[in-house]
Amino acid sequence: MTVTRAELAVVGGGLNGLTLGIACAAAGLEVAVIDREDPATMLGERFDGRTSAIAYGSMRVLDGIGVWPLVAGTAEAIREIRVADNWAPLFLHYDHREIGDEPLGWIVENRALRRALHARAGTLPNLRLIAPMTVTSRDGGAAALANGDVVRAELIAAADGKNSPLREAAGIRTMTWSYPQIGIVATVRHAKAHRGVAVEHFLPAGPFAILPMTDSRSSIVWTERAALAPTLLALDDAAFHRELASRFGDFLGEISVEGPRWSYPLSFLHAETYIAPRRRRHRARAGAARPRSRRARPRRADPG
Ligand SMILES: Cc1cc2nc3c(=O)[nH]c(=O)nc-3n(C[C@H](O)[C@H](O)[C@H](O)COP(=O)(O)OP(=O)(O)OC[C@H]3O[C@@H](n4cnc5c(N)ncnc54)[C@H](O)[C@@H]3O)c2cc1C
Repeated sequence: MTVTRAELAVVGGGLNGLTLGIACAAAGLEVAVIDREDPATMLGERFDGRTSAIAYGSMRVLDGIGVWPLVAGTAEAIREIRVADNWAPLFLHYDHREIGDEPLGWIVENRALRRALHARAGTLPNLRLIAPMTVTSRDGGAAALANGDVVRAELIAAADGKNSPLREAAGIRTMTWSYPQIGIVATVRHAKAHRGVAVEHFLPAGPFAILPMTDSRSSIVWTERAALAPTLLALDDAAFHRELASRFGDFLGEISVEGPRWSYPLSFLHAETYIAPRRRRHRARAGAARPRSRRARPRRADPG
C-alpha cells in the first residue's frame, strides 16, 4: 500500500475539482486531485458537448490561476442578452455598454476548458493528478483508493459531482428536486453573424437558449418535456433539423446542426453548507445524524 501525502486532496477532477486544485497548487500547497475517469476519455471529443457561460468574475478567477490565457482564444464574448416569452415582440434586453466596456461574460466549450485545465495542471509540479482512480471511502483525512493506496491530506474537498457521496458522508444536507424536463444540447452553424447576442426564448416546454460561440456558431440548450425528448433525439438528421429550426427561428439565416446531439436530465440541488468538520468513520457510524435531502416543489427548469 502506498500512502501519498498532500495538504489538499480533491476528489473529482471535473471543471470544479481541477479549478480548485490548480488554484491551491498555484498558491503553493501540495495538492492531489483524484478522478475515476481516464484523462484521455475526459479530453476526448465525445465526452461533453456542453458549453459554459463564464461570468466576468469567473473569468477573473480562471485568469488569476493561469487558465484563461489558455482558453481565451476559443471563448466568444456575450455582449447582449435577449430574453423573450415565446416569440413575443417585446423582450428583456441587456447590453454590456450599459455597464462598461467588458462583455457580460463568455461562452466556452467545456472540452476547451477541460483541455486548458489539464494543460495548466501539468505545469504545476506540486499538483499530482491521480487518474483513472476511484476513491472508495474516506476516513478522517484519508481517502482510500480502489487499488488499496491511500491519500492523506489536511483537507479533503469533495468535487465528485452533483450526487457527491463524499458530501453525503460528511453529513451535508441538500435541497433538491428534479424537473420533468431534459436539456438537449447541440451546436448550430448559421449564415449570419450573431454579434455576441445570447438569446433565451421561454417556449411552452421550457427555455430555449441560443448561446454565441466562435466562428458563426451557437450552442443550443433546448429544454424539452422529458417524455418527448427520446423521440426528438432519435429523429433522423433532416427531421431533427426541422424541429430545431422551428424553435430557433430565421433571425440568423440558414442554420445547420454540427456534431452530435447530447442530452442531460435537469435537476436543482443546493447544499446547505459548503464545509463540515472532519468526521472519522466510526463516529459517523456511532449515531451521527444521517444527512437528509429535502425535496421542494419543482419549478420550471432554467439551465442557463
Ligand atoms: C445543459 C447544461 C448546461 C449548463 N450550463 C452551464 C453554464 O453555462 N455555466 C455553468 O457554470 N454551469 C453550467 N452547467 C452546470 C455545469 O456543467 C456543472 O455544474 C459542472 O459541469 C459540474 O462540474 P463538477 O466538476 O462539479 O462535477 P462533474 O463534472 O460531475 O465532475 C465530477 C468528477 O468527479 C469524478 N468522481 C466522482 N466520484 C468519484 C470517486 N468516487 N472517485 C474519483 N473520482 C470521482 C467524476 O469522474 C467526475 O470527473 C450546465 C449544466 C447542464 C446540464
